[in-house]
Amino acid sequence: MNRLVPALSGSSSPSPPVLILGGGFAGLAAAADLAERGVNVLLMERRAFLGGRAYSFTDKTTGDTVDNGQHLMMGCYHHTLRFLEKIGSLHKLKFQANPQVDFLSEQANQSVSCATFKCPSWPAPLHLLAGLAKLETLDWRDRLHALRVGLELRSLNGSRERLSDITVREWLNQLGQTQTMQRRFWDLVAIATLNETPDRASADMFARVLDQAFMHTRQDSTMVISKTGLSDLYAEDARRFIEGRGGEVRLNADVLRIEFENRRAARVVLRGGEVLQAGTIISSVPYFALRRMISEAVQDASPSLRCLRQFVSAPIVSINLWYAEPVTDLEFTALLDSRIEWVFNKNAIAGNIRSKPQHLALVISGAHEAARLPKEKLISMATQEMNRFFPLARTQQPFHALVVREQDATISHTVGVARLRPPHTTEFENFFLAGDWTATGLPATIESAVQSGRQCARLVAE
Ligand SMILES: Cc1cc2nc3c(=O)[nH]c(=O)nc-3n(C[C@H](O)[C@H](O)[C@H](O)COP(=O)(O)OP(=O)(O)OC[C@H]3O[C@@H](n4cnc5c(N)ncnc54)[C@H](O)[C@@H]3O)c2cc1C
Repeated sequence: MNRLVPALSGSSSPSPPVLILGGGFAGLAAAADLAERGVNVLLMERRAFLGGRAYSFTDKTTGDTVDNGQHLMMGCYHHTLRFLEKIGSLHKLKFQANPQVDFLSEQANQSVSCATFKCPSWPAPLHLLAGLAKLETLDWRDRLHALRVGLELRSLNGSRERLSDITVREWLNQLGQTQTMQRRFWDLVAIATLNETPDRASADMFARVLDQAFMHTRQDSTMVISKTGLSDLYAEDARRFIEGRGGEVRLNADVLRIEFENRRAARVVLRGGEVLQAGTIISSVPYFALRRMISEAVQDASPSLRCLRQFVSAPIVSINLWYAEPVTDLEFTALLDSRIEWVFNKNAIAGNIRSKPQHLALVISGAHEAARLPKEKLISMATQEMNRFFPLARTQQPFHALVVREQDATISHTVGVARLRPPHTTEFENFFLAGDWTATGLPATIESAVQSGRQCARLVAE
């Protein structure tokens, strides 16, 4: 099949659709914004389903919906919340009234204590200071030192250039944060938000996250979580929204190549041989997928595409465990001094707090080592950690376990990577770049993806 879509300029035929490559958050957000403005869009997704790196599937053994990895959002995800509101999905989210996170730690006598980081209804950033002041996992000296981070963020006043060549660890050391404060608080925040360990992650990106989440409004620091599986949260609602406004969404549309001519993207070639002439293209595929679609000669000659070979990915490992009897009432909790960072209680998040069996999702981010371990080893390690932190887990074995390894969960935010991230416009006037890895100024998250997609839509529409 060779479907030729007429080119935009000099043609009397109707305008060709804007081609959007990739159906994750970025592509869907771009398509939804353009479709809303009455622009003809054709979104092409390689897989048989939408959602990209944020999707869910049905577990064959239990019939439960399992995410490819637990996703947390925050109140400061303004673009994401606007996108979800537009496509009618906002009611599927659970919003905290005030920022709150539980921390579990093992005591010397093997008992477990739970400390809560709970911010009062005060204006930012006082809410954060009050929350830290009461956090019992830290002593008063540590909490006092944390003030310095807040003062530093204030003094940076948005200019983080001098942090771009140092790691999170170096920055926290410079700010006099004790080892305990780092291990028991900042490291968890850094790994959760940057998907990279503080010894590798870049300080400028961390400062940006802290500023965005904690320095503006109290609502910005609240956690937002989906009550449904990720695919049910947005993928089909977005598709309905786009198709309802005349757009087209094609699944199993694997883009093999983008060809460029005369400083323009000329055409897109799909697996199977179909060729689409390009009017305008928004690529929202990850860096490693785009790298395969564009010839090395074009990449070498293009300042905005030369970066594609320089990114490295950071993995996330999720270990799902099912217990016949509930082992915790907590919705989600951080584990201190553990190889597992977070435990999410999927029943409680869905609103079924005491229902049985209990499905828990355990998360390891920045999982360069864990992602290489065999499945059996990960399950055994996760079960041991559950026994350490949850006394009710000691009396039973999980009856089912499922490991999901996402090797390319996000780009690795190491020192210097921020400078590699390309802007949304390229040297090719009809070719735009979206995706969480582009230069949004945010870590590679849902918010970065949606912001990039919306920004590309605005550039194309204008
Ligand atoms: C396990 C895990 C946990 C995470 N946790 C969080 C979290 O808690 N909070 C948070 O904000 N973010 C989190 N993230 C990151 C978040 O999922 C991503 O930032 C976001 O989903 C990226 O969206 P995107 O649209 O940029 O890219 P993608 O979701 O990767 O979408 C790109 C799409 O392009 C398609 N594609 C690829 N190649 C082709 C081709 N040749 N032709 C056509 N289509 C193609 C892909 O199939 C995919 O659907 C997590 C990610 C993972 C993996």
